Amino acid sequence: MVIGRRRFLQLGTSAAAISLIPPALAQIQQRPQIIDVHLHAYPTDLPIPEVANPVTGKTVRLKDGAAHRAACLAEMKRLNIVKGVVSGGDGDRLAAAIQWHEADPVRIVAGAGVRGSEDTPLADLSVLRSAFTEGRLRVLGEVTTQCAGLTLDDPKYAPYLGLAEELDIPVALHTGVMPPGMSFDPCCRKARASLGNPSLVEETLNRYPKLRLNLMHAGWPYLEETVAILFHYPEVNADLGAIDWLLPRADFHAYLHALMQAWFGKRVMFGSDQMYWPEGIAMAVDAVESAPFLSPAEKRDIFYENAAKFYRLI
Ligand SMILES: [Zn+2]
Repeated sequence: MVIGRRRFLQLGTSAAAISLIPPALAQIQQRPQIIDVHLHAYPTDLPIPEVANPVTGKTVRLKDGAAHRAACLAEMKRLNIVKGVVSGGDGDRLAAAIQWHEADPVRIVAGAGVRGSEDTPLADLSVLRSAFTEGRLRVLGEVTTQCAGLTLDDPKYAPYLGLAEELDIPVALHTGVMPPGMSFDPCCRKARASLGNPSLVEETLNRYPKLRLNLMHAGWPYLEETVAILFHYPEVNADLGAIDWLLPRADFHAYLHALMQAWFGKRVMFGSDQMYWPEGIAMAVDAVESAPFLSPAEKRDIFYENAAKFYRLI
């Protein structure tokens, strides 16, 4: 798809060629292709809470999970997001992501949301095995061990990691911090900020040496530990979900700049983590596009190439 687009640009330089392109299509093709590796889906009939966007303060009314999905897919098309990795943000954390995939099978890759807390138990292993084998699910994640008060090293996750390694399924782990006050939410009384430290994945990486692991949220604010893990373990990548649009722009750019200066420009992947707010996808895109220290080639890697390689999407 990359080669196709480059060739299109080379071929499309004559006025005659451009005039053959319908205006709407031309507008889409002006935007580079993007892969968003961090999206969330909600059950079709689950009412979406009317929570104001934390950055803009605006509330967009979305009746239910189906309306949320339609709004997110429309936004992805507008922004030329050609692939999206989505996982369940509520409910059983499997069905909603699979429904997104069924709604747009070419664009959407579904991930198995995994937590392992009392109110969100782990999915049946045989269900996951057949979904992975059949391609209905292609990622183990978002794995939110931190919200369950655990680390990935906890024995309860071992069969799931073994399955991921056996079937060559990439694992996407929530790292860094959680929304403020999460430890006092009835869902997550065992959650602790310290459990988001990326250094806690090290034993798992040694136990499953073939595992491809995405440190979601790029381990923010644990910069040194994130750098150490990326440095030591070449199969590990990091995504920019949530920190790209929820952090103050200067703080996000400083963090991304530090990762780039540590030579991880080929390992950092774009992700929005839009949650309840479809408009967060565009805000996340803008946060990366506006980084003054990124070259066009580095942006291309972050927006597309790194995820395409890590998730084997091309
Ligand atoms: Zn997360």
